Amino acid sequence: MPSAPLQFLSDELNKLREQKLYQKLRILESEQRPTARFDGREVINLSSNNYLGLTTHPRLKQKALQAIEQWGVGSGAVRTIAGTMSLHMELEEKIARFKNVEASVVFQSGFTANAGTVQAILTRDDVIISDELNHASIIDGCRLSRAEIKVFPHKDVEACEKVLKELAGRKGRKLLVTDGVFSMDGDIAPLPGLVALAEKYGCIMMIDDAHASGVLGRNGRGTVDHYGLHGRVDIQVGTLSKAIGALGGYVCSTRDTIEFLYHRARPFLFSTSHPPSVAATCIAAFEVLEEEPQLIEALWTNTRSFKEGLKKLGFNTGMSETPITPVMVGDAALAHQFSRELFAAGVFAMSLGFPTVPVGKARIRTIVTATHTEDELRRALEILGSVGKKLGII
Ligand code: PMP
Repeated sequence: MPSAPLQFLSDELNKLREQKLYQKLRILESEQRPTARFDGREVINLSSNNYLGLTTHPRLKQKALQAIEQWGVGSGAVRTIAGTMSLHMELEEKIARFKNVEASVVFQSGFTANAGTVQAILTRDDVIISDELNHASIIDGCRLSRAEIKVFPHKDVEACEKVLKELAGRKGRKLLVTDGVFSMDGDIAPLPGLVALAEKYGCIMMIDDAHASGVLGRNGRGTVDHYGLHGRVDIQVGTLSKAIGALGGYVCSTRDTIEFLYHRARPFLFSTSHPPSVAATCIAAFEVLEEEPQLIEALWTNTRSFKEGLKKLGFNTGMSETPITPVMVGDAALAHQFSRELFAAGVFAMSLGFPTVPVGKARIRTIVTATHTEDELRRALEILGSVGKKLGII
């Protein structure tokens, strides 16, 4: 008898179970907070991207509720048909002013902003020069564009230049693209060096600032502001799903580039726009970034003290320079066990293995936020220390 058509997927899953690589989803049963209830347990939460605690900020919640009252719960169409509300335009203008650029466009997520933009602006005649640890959404955009893809070793400006030299005389456009802050390692891109290369070799320069938005630069303006590179990066992508606390992604560039994306970016053209409550929430979030800089200060104070604590305990925290601090383990099965035992002891720090990180580089990833208390971070370090010792990780 022929087997069921989807049996191969069950077989693959069983293999993951045998290799102890199967992971079940943790279910959040409360608000996304520094201490939250997952799977029936109150745990110290070191796994969210809620850097500034904005998911529960009273002003954002109030703006979302007001928007529902005034505008309803959905936009009812894609942006290019009937789904562009004045709130969407207001948000985009706000972002453009905040980032000091000509124009911006909001997508449904950071993922679609990256993938949709790269695909829209390049063709099979072009070439993309991409850091090896760039986010999956950039990689997917590169593949969808059908352009040639040249990957350079992580943060290696010299190697990047070597690639560019080899491309001398090649016809077509060149896009040099990097994450601003790398999501699995928490290190910062060598943007001044890459921008100089883009200028020297005539590349379009693009940066994905998902983990730098609200985190780096004045009031969280991102990596371009952090390095003082205003006007020298052609395309900046940011997310509204992490520090901003809601959902979405945005692209900042020239007015014409943004209008071109209106016409060619497939997620913009073919997928419904944000509910008005999301747009209203995001507008309020940018106001908070400007008016409450103490949140970013608290984020960095917590980041510094937590990193120091991890290092003192003897953990290998890799190359991190930001609130994303990995604790390197190596073996994926051990990393998953570490995460499970931490959870049982009261700390949620997600383990990451292949394909999220390369084989042999499994880790747990910790992210502190502005709203973790000193006591929460001290208790988290105690638990990490005792479980880490028990499993021989330190
Ligand atoms: N870029 C990077 C570097 C990310 O880490 C993420 C989120 N995992 C994204 C883009 C996608 O952002 P969003 O969650 O808004 O789709």
